[in-house]
Amino acid sequence: MTAIPIPLQALAIRDKKVYVFGTPQLPVSPVRIYLDVEGCPDEGYDYLVGLIIVEGDKEQRFSFWADDRDQEDWTFQQFLATVTNYADFLVFAYGGYERAFVRRMQKRAERKTVADRVLKSMVNVNALIYAHVYFPTCSNGLKDVGASLGCLWTDPNASGIQSIVWRMRWEATHDEHWKQQLLTYNMEDCVALRRVTEFLYSISATSESAQEPRTATESKPRVARVEEIDRLGSVNRRGKIQFFHPDYEYINNCAHFDYQRQRVYVRTSRMLKKNRKKPRRYRNRKLRVSQRVQIVSKKCPSCGGMELIHWERGKKVSGYSTKRKKAFDLVFTSGGIKRRVIECRTSIHECLQCGKIFIPDRYQGLAKHFHGLMSWAMYEHVAHRIGCPMVKEMFQDFFGLAVCHQEITKFKSIMARYYRPGYKKLLDKIMSGQVLHVDETEMKLRTGKGYVWVFATAEDVVYLYRPNREGDFLLELLKDFRGVLVSDFYTAYDSLNCPQQKCLIHLMRDMNQELLDNPFDEELQSITGPFGTLLRAIVGTIDQHGLRRRFLGKHELGVAKFFQALTAQSFRSEAAEALRARLIKYQEKLFTFLRYDMVPWNNNNAENAIRRFAYYREDTPGRLKEAGLRDYLALLSFCHTCRYKSVSFLKFLLSRKQDVDTFCQGRRRKRRRPAIEIYPKGVVRPDFAGANRGNTEPNTTGE
Ligand SMILES: [Zn+2]
Repeated sequence: MTAIPIPLQALAIRDKKVYVFGTPQLPVSPVRIYLDVEGCPDEGYDYLVGLIIVEGDKEQRFSFWADDRDQEDWTFQQFLATVTNYADFLVFAYGGYERAFVRRMQKRAERKTVADRVLKSMVNVNALIYAHVYFPTCSNGLKDVGASLGCLWTDPNASGIQSIVWRMRWEATHDEHWKQQLLTYNMEDCVALRRVTEFLYSISATSESAQEPRTATESKPRVARVEEIDRLGSVNRRGKIQFFHPDYEYINNCAHFDYQRQRVYVRTSRMLKKNRKKPRRYRNRKLRVSQRVQIVSKKCPSCGGMELIHWERGKKVSGYSTKRKKAFDLVFTSGGIKRRVIECRTSIHECLQCGKIFIPDRYQGLAKHFHGLMSWAMYEHVAHRIGCPMVKEMFQDFFGLAVCHQEITKFKSIMARYYRPGYKKLLDKIMSGQVLHVDETEMKLRTGKGYVWVFATAEDVVYLYRPNREGDFLLELLKDFRGVLVSDFYTAYDSLNCPQQKCLIHLMRDMNQELLDNPFDEELQSITGPFGTLLRAIVGTIDQHGLRRRFLGKHELGVAKFFQALTAQSFRSEAAEALRARLIKYQEKLFTFLRYDMVPWNNNNAENAIRRFAYYREDTPGRLKEAGLRDYLALLSFCHTCRYKSVSFLKFLLSRKQDVDTFCQGRRRKRRRPAIEIYPKGVVRPDFAGANRGNTEPNTTGE
């Protein structure tokens, strides 16, 4: 399964539309050949070559079948002989499998030049889709994409693994039935490939509308062009310059730092030549396996039957593995961190009761990176503010592990999801406290602006994302709040119906600025002077006794006198009058803390938390998307809460506890590490690092 950029894909699924980005460039030829090859991946040979040849209105279908390995050459010769009937043709295939087949056969074919022509005329339809089209499907597999265009398969269960089992059955029994199943399945793939390709032609630059006679049964999906790709935020085109001359663009691209090092200097520098980046294919493949896990299902998922057999290479085996994949983890000991490579194996299972063929869910959903590894990455990212590209380098340098940028980004969402219940709990806890500090700040996102609110007590912090600065949501959020709200003078807080304490540091700074602006205003000084004396006396008491109502209560008289005098006065000075109005307006909210225990007179707790976030904001100006920011804020809430409670954020993450209080209570007890970890529902194993593909940029020409 190919991993695909999520936002546009999600949009496509939601709108049930096909989104087209840019214009696919398809080559033109009078003859189009649709090729699909079936093989036994375990044994390394292919046994069925299916093709549909379309020339004008004429369509021909061919299937070349090999009984065993020896006949493989024959199928290829037949294929070449059919193709050579045409002077000019294009061969379409879905994915890289067919190309690998032709290339492998070419090496031992007699008619090398014909095979060469086939290779040159091959077009990978999957790559074209990857670059340009977002179908309303969960994957870019031929089954899903074809189905969205109305293609049907005779056997609804038809799939890659199903076909392997059919072939195994045929090899075991030589029953014609299984062969027929395979021939049908293969030809239906060709038909689907044809339909998908013709759909691409219909939206491409070389669209020949006359050539697509659409039948009534063909379902036409709605197509939308993505012109404002930036607004939709799926492809990062930040800082891309529009060049008037194509030549300028070419020259500009040639000057990129990486390009120069890899293409230009490398020609003359021996050192660079030696260190040239290796192709990114299978980079983690050679790592030594530290643990092997065999995954076997005991029960059929559809009927619950317990009688299962396992398939491998045309024969039944017991619990023997035919499929394997790797997972990676980091293990923390008191003396260091160690890489762990886990290899999971499983076999294709068949239920004898209902005939269901399946691979265990635990194998399908196997996480590629386990909790310990993700914890380390997120710890570095959130606590030390190390960017994802740098974390990637650290993985390589410290652990010899290739983890790509997108995967690290994905860790963030997986981890945020894991900690979501704890995040909710944290927010509830803060909302039920005696004191609540609140503050907010703005953040530039890739698509416009967002706002981050922070809610804090002396030992807990929660960051919350809001798309706008409006405070309406506070009414709902704080409807059960019974404590004192500490905030700055932002008007959104004014309407909240709870005792409030405004930050007096803010007020004092504002007053100070007024004094500096109006140095000779004696009326102004007649307010600020007594206010300073009053506050200084209060702070003195706090210094001595802490925030205790018993000791602070004696200042209430002074406060009352201050306001009494202020109300009676009137000023000619504008600045003094404005300050008087402000103080009287907030009269009830300036000295609330005198009547409570443990309510501070400033908003330090929230402002400190906001500052932590501001550092991060500097590191990622306008690069984040809303979902990424939400995930980050959830993790940052835990990081900062740990800091307030003086416990290690890393140890908290590694403990797998979902909230910090539980972690603090039961710190001694150690949980056993599970042998394997499974992704939560809906998370797809990423294949970015080149498990299927050589590089992350697909080629549009099929090369
Ligand atoms: Zn069953």
